[in-house]
Amino acid sequence: MTTPTVGFVSLGCPKALVDSERILTQLRAEGYQVSSSYEGADLVVVNTCGFIDEAVEESLEAIGEALEENGRVIVTGCLGAKPGTRGERSLVSEVHPKVLAVTGPHATAEVMQAIHQHLPKPHDPFTDLVPPQGVRLTPGHYAYLKISEGCNHRCSFCIIPSMRGDLVSRPIGEVMREAEALVKAGVQEILVVSQDTSAYGLDLKYRTDFVEGRPVRTRFAELVEELSRLGVWVRLHYVYPYPHIDEILPLMADGKVLPYLDVPFQHSHPDVLKRMKRPASGEKNLERIQQWRKAVPDLTLRSTFIAGFPGESESEFSDLLQFLTEAQIDRLGCVAYSPVQGASANTLPGALPIEVRQERADRVMAHQQPISEQRLARWVGRRTQVLIDGIDEEEGVLVGRTGGDAPDIDGIVRVRPDPNSRHPVPVGIGRFATVDIIHSDDYDLEAVIVAAVAA
Ligand code: SF4
Repeated sequence: MTTPTVGFVSLGCPKALVDSERILTQLRAEGYQVSSSYEGADLVVVNTCGFIDEAVEESLEAIGEALEENGRVIVTGCLGAKPGTRGERSLVSEVHPKVLAVTGPHATAEVMQAIHQHLPKPHDPFTDLVPPQGVRLTPGHYAYLKISEGCNHRCSFCIIPSMRGDLVSRPIGEVMREAEALVKAGVQEILVVSQDTSAYGLDLKYRTDFVEGRPVRTRFAELVEELSRLGVWVRLHYVYPYPHIDEILPLMADGKVLPYLDVPFQHSHPDVLKRMKRPASGEKNLERIQQWRKAVPDLTLRSTFIAGFPGESESEFSDLLQFLTEAQIDRLGCVAYSPVQGASANTLPGALPIEVRQERADRVMAHQQPISEQRLARWVGRRTQVLIDGIDEEEGVLVGRTGGDAPDIDGIVRVRPDPNSRHPVPVGIGRFATVDIIHSDDYDLEAVIVAAVAA
């Protein structure tokens, strides 16, 4: 009997990626084969994204392609939770009525149920073939750790809570067991993700759970402290500027957690933030940034912004530029506001023409460019550790990242051999190296290798 084979297409953000990894892990645990092509597969699972309109289109196209190439398709992910416009339960079944089943995000059990129905599971599951850390889609040396699902906020431009529901945190014992398994499997960098990392545990009333037999509260600061004991890089994403962030600053200052914060500010002006219904809109963000930098001088701050939100006046926009000058954010992304179907911001008065929104987003990026360049230049002349992600064969350099760079979204370090050294330094992918930073440009750094760091 041939082993039933499932093709898998994974779209969307790191949170969706974690969902994909869970389904793939379960498939392998039950003895299914996983295929990266449509042809060899008995059916195909497409994990979709539905955050912005372009992502919806990309997901619908991917489903269409899978139907054409394979014909038997199960859809999961954020787009699966989006209702149809003509009374269908989901937009996906409205556009692609031939799909076998549709589920929303974080629905491993439902996806598996649909797979069992359409492709019965093999009689003898090879559970021992699955590594303890599960199946992952990232390279072996870094991994995303999803600590919660959903979100209690209701930002007016976002439909994630309507798709993913309110905050549901994973108990700290479970999160730490996964983190420990990842480290045992060779992961050197853990990237903590969720919709609102700083709210972790709120829904569980910070309930006490057990980590290696010790009682520990399911709470942001306690989680960061536990992760800091694992001896690997720990990077925090989607953190909101609440006062309790201060509790983890000493761990960053002591080098136990990466001095890196990804804080999606989205805007600076209090009125725009109120219209956006942003969490922590009343916080004095500039003051907070200054306090963070005082406590952790080496802090790398990443943030995202939206330009041209409905009703954004010229003076509110100028406030944003002024904020950027003062905040000196290291890594910044800015998008022109784009209405998302179903978001309450669509009904706000004062919608701006797309040209104005785009022009403002471009102005933000142009304004930020010398700031980013200057912030990056402070690395030049420093000796630091980088994690090697790969090799650029054409340029003959190793490609790595400092603690200030998250994979895929931030910059890289091109690492060359030291011209004054007669001995090449052997260092492999997924290993740390000590380097001297010799040059910086707008986004990336250049370094010469000093030594490999013992594993
Ligand atoms: S914090 Fe706001 S933008 Fe982020 S997921 Fe929650 S509602 Fe959406």
